[in-house]
Amino acid sequence: MTTRRPNRNVGRTLRETAAVSAATGFFLILAVQWDFSRTARLYRDAASMHAPVSLRQYPYPFRAALSICSDIDDTETPEEFLSIQEFLNTDHETVYGRGVGLEIGNSFYMVDRPGRNEFTWFSDRPQDQRIIREFIRAGIIDCLHSYGEGCSTRVQAVSAIRALERDGCRVPVWINHSNARSNMSKWFKTNRGDRLGDPAYHSDVTIPYAIRYVSCGSSTSVVGQDAPVSWRSYLCPPVSEACLKSLRNSAKSFFKRIASMFGLSDTRYFLHRDNALIGIRRLEDGRRVYEFMRYDLHREGIGYGADSRGLAENISESVLKRLLEVRGTGIVYTHLGKNGDGQPWVDPQTADALRNLSVHATEGRILVTTTYKLLNYTTVRRALRWTAEADSTETVIRIHGIRDTILGEIEANEENLQGITFTVPDGKPVRILVHGKACRDLRTNPPDESGRRSVSFPWKRLKPPEFHDPGH
Ligand SMILES: [Zn+2]
Repeated sequence: MTTRRPNRNVGRTLRETAAVSAATGFFLILAVQWDFSRTARLYRDAASMHAPVSLRQYPYPFRAALSICSDIDDTETPEEFLSIQEFLNTDHETVYGRGVGLEIGNSFYMVDRPGRNEFTWFSDRPQDQRIIREFIRAGIIDCLHSYGEGCSTRVQAVSAIRALERDGCRVPVWINHSNARSNMSKWFKTNRGDRLGDPAYHSDVTIPYAIRYVSCGSSTSVVGQDAPVSWRSYLCPPVSEACLKSLRNSAKSFFKRIASMFGLSDTRYFLHRDNALIGIRRLEDGRRVYEFMRYDLHREGIGYGADSRGLAENISESVLKRLLEVRGTGIVYTHLGKNGDGQPWVDPQTADALRNLSVHATEGRILVTTTYKLLNYTTVRRALRWTAEADSTETVIRIHGIRDTILGEIEANEENLQGITFTVPDGKPVRILVHGKACRDLRTNPPDESGRRSVSFPWKRLKPPEFHDPGH
């Protein structure tokens, strides 16, 4: 007979495991804290306040920027599309109240699913194509939401591109849609659009056509990209009262960051590493594009708040306050057409939230613009090559060009330079020379919140098409 004796080794093993776990946790916290400090340096340097002439982060007088980026899913008719855009883009009296008059864009499909006839370029209603064409030319439809679920071959994709080109329609942003075969990147296994040799391969035609920016699906629950992150970015999501669910959601975003920090995942989460709005993505066929990240703060997880009702929470006053606090940029993930079974197509709470956003825009705090204009402003500002000289009589700023990482040298013209703002010393006249030629159309601004005077290239507001009966 044997007597069982307490196994001292078990206690020791448990203690050792606890010690190793505590040490690992401590190391992880230190590493993350170090990385948070790195993002603070990264973005503080970008907004240097000490040089006599510096490039302002946002066009004067704004301190943050926002785009509402809507996928076209479930927008069923031209009446619905026009009704929503009229409220967003004009100050007309609409069924939702006076329009908010903001530069808020939209997206479109080329081909609908078989058996359906939603609002698409190739729908059975000729007015759909006319309306989409007018809104693309006005710059308000700026995103192609894949070619649509009805497009599964290269032949279809190429004929879609040719149709857009024939009508002088350039769409610079691509957004993957659900499991559409024409999607690009290996985000989902069903994405085929950039796989060389696949029957659905088209990126060799689509990217050179006009596409500069791509959303493969990257999204976050952190408010404010291109801004430092801290524990608060994850522990204080400003949107939800359901704390536990919010924390779970934040933990997922935090995990994406850890995964990107330590290279634990593939490149899927690479934008989370620096909390960046934009980064360079190499597609499966080797082509390079700018990928951008959107946000959705819904407590159930990313995607749950991406509808008309959820938009109210994603642009609530507390979210906008946080955006201003971190001086960040945000692209809201939404579907304006996911709005219930019928009217009102704009939810009343969402209409209120948009009115509040409009106050922030008109009072010069948050720049609200289309996804393309926001992305273009951000990449041009980063790629701008300039020098400045200030003597006792004047300040001269010379713009030498824009060296885009993907396209190489691109033209520094009024279109690309709009919104670019330089803070300048007080009391001296300022000249800006673009390729040696003096610019006449400049805005001289009074001191901003930091007390610094500035000069900027005027922001050109998009002019929406006339809103009339879609049948005519
Ligand atoms: Zn979609």
